[in-house]
Amino acid sequence: MTAIPIIQSDYPLRDHNTFGINAIAKRYVTITSAKMLLEVNVSSELAGLPRLVLGGGSNILLTGDFPGVVFHMCMKGIDIVGDDAEMTYVRAAAGENWHQLVRWTLARGLGGLENLSLIPGSVGAAPIQNIGAYGAELKDCFHSVTVLDLESGAVSTLDKTTCAFGYRDSIFKQALRERSVILDVSFALPKQWQPNLRYAELSQEVTARGLSDPSAVEISDAVMAIRTRKLPDPAVIGNAGSFFKNPVVPAQQRHALLERYPQLVSYPQADGSYKLAAGWLIDQCGWKGGSLGAAGVYEKQALVLVNRGGASGQDILTLARKIQDDALARFGVRIEPEPVFV
Ligand SMILES: Cc1cc2nc3c(=O)[nH]c(=O)nc-3n(C[C@H](O)[C@H](O)[C@H](O)COP(=O)(O)OP(=O)(O)OC[C@H]3O[C@@H](n4cnc5c(N)ncnc54)[C@H](O)[C@@H]3O)c2cc1C
Repeated sequence: MTAIPIIQSDYPLRDHNTFGINAIAKRYVTITSAKMLLEVNVSSELAGLPRLVLGGGSNILLTGDFPGVVFHMCMKGIDIVGDDAEMTYVRAAAGENWHQLVRWTLARGLGGLENLSLIPGSVGAAPIQNIGAYGAELKDCFHSVTVLDLESGAVSTLDKTTCAFGYRDSIFKQALRERSVILDVSFALPKQWQPNLRYAELSQEVTARGLSDPSAVEISDAVMAIRTRKLPDPAVIGNAGSFFKNPVVPAQQRHALLERYPQLVSYPQADGSYKLAAGWLIDQCGWKGGSLGAAGVYEKQALVLVNRGGASGQDILTLARKIQDDALARFGVRIEPEPVFV
């Protein structure tokens, strides 16, 4: 039996975004099944209202009250749905917690997602920006998604190619933006698992733990330890992780910058361009640990903007724009925000 959707009014979102911004949603519905979403999406009470699909709220900036309906994705369920000679296939509902999915797979001897341990948020949001950390991205173990088209009500399956994953990017941030709701995500986890220790900091952590042949669980533990040391806990200080993406520039521009700034931190890309460390650029602009009113830049990591207490979405936005302007003026490089502005 499907639960009846309860449409709530003037709903406070403070506990549903990791920045802890106190914004109000005109309407709010907890979604516990695909059927419920299909039904409520066509409710006359919600006709004409903008939609916001919400997971854990760890990658959004609420810039003001939301004049529409929030669909809070809370459907649950994780299953092994098949296997073949090379892969085990796991499907997880959109409302599952991402990190709990990672540990669920590891507990069943299925490696592949361990480098992405402890990333906050929901399974359904993970493909939106192709979450990545410590040398891995969601797309490495992605198989397919089931999506609902909010306009037509059609449900379909999209494969990896269709999702057009890129660096913190996918079709869901482009052509399907504000249109598709991810209902569940399927993963292909390799039976012949190999550790991915390409990321220097992770490999050093593993070595420091005396692990010459680490298991997937041990890598997950190492990632969790690094992340806990480096990143602020949203339960303690509001934030959305990295606020800016690392900008990618042509080799010529990087060369010119290197002549002026020999300490510039950059990483070569497959196409000959370079990714610059946005945190370094922000640090050089003098913003690390700085504040503008109640909005601030985290002391240990300049990429992370924080709510020092009572900041509004506009306060965070003003700080972000100031940092962007300063980076552009100093380095001629535009740094783009990573969270979705609502
Ligand atoms: C401390 C901290 C560390 C972080 N570290 C990382 C990191 O290492 N790597 C990384 O990539 N990210 C990181 N993030 C960002 C964030 O955790 C991820 O982007 C995560 O996937 C967001 O999930 P969410 O459920 O909170 O999404 P939300 O913030 O709820 O939503 C984000 C976007 O996805 C859309 N969305 C959510 N669910 C669905 C759905 N089911 N269908 C369609 N659209 C949907 C929303 O509309 C919104 O546009 C970090 C955040 C924090 C706070």
